[in-house]
Amino acid sequence: MLLLKAPRFLFISIPFCTFVFSHTIFDVLQSIPITLIRKKVKNARIVVKNSTTVELIVPHRYSELHVDNLVESKRDWILRALEKVKSRENAVQLQENERFIRGKIFIIHERFIDTPFIDYEHARLYGRSEHFVGNKFITLLKKEAKVFLPKRLRELADEFGFRINKISIRSQSTRWGSCSSDKNISLNWKLLLVPPFVCDYVLLHELVHTEHLNHSEHFWKRLSEVCPYVTQSHQWQKQFGRAVLQLH
Ligand SMILES: [Zn+2]
Repeated sequence: MLLLKAPRFLFISIPFCTFVFSHTIFDVLQSIPITLIRKKVKNARIVVKNSTTVELIVPHRYSELHVDNLVESKRDWILRALEKVKSRENAVQLQENERFIRGKIFIIHERFIDTPFIDYEHARLYGRSEHFVGNKFITLLKKEAKVFLPKRLRELADEFGFRINKISIRSQSTRWGSCSSDKNISLNWKLLLVPPFVCDYVLLHELVHTEHLNHSEHFWKRLSEVCPYVTQSHQWQKQFGRAVLQLH
């Protein structure tokens, strides 16, 4: 691999009071900018911070040959990680009058009304502009989720013959939903933001847990009988799931 090395510079990392040597390596073949950081660490690690920042943190004793070999051996991994980050960065680039709901762009139509509302059929939002920013918008989405998600869950339960007990809507940053042994299902309001096939997948996933409280073979078999989008949903979740879950 051909590496161009920029001049080294030295800075002091205050929290640990250790001297850190750093320089940027450009993998010319792939144009990946990699910042090399020598630190008091045991093992080398690669951190993909965003689509233009990759850090390679290595112990002080690591030779340049070691560094080159490591980058070479991890090149595919780095490229895949960069692709993922890029698609996440590109995923939601909205104009000021646009919002992302059910995996689609909705346009804000300003109306001087006190209660904003969402027109799903035409992908429009009606209300005052302040209804669609910050906490007000989150409150609106949570309120919508409390109506929309239980309704959809009941429709799917009826369609496929699942019995459910209570439904609750929560705000979580690590999971989309859960199901208890009493057949109580809780769902994350952020399901209102994802494409309909992903939302249905999560709802069906929790419904199948009313029959199988685990991820056994039987569980996945039953889920594939009722949901045709298992693979696509997993792919979507891998690519965008974390970014959406971390909204709050
Ligand atoms: Zn599960």
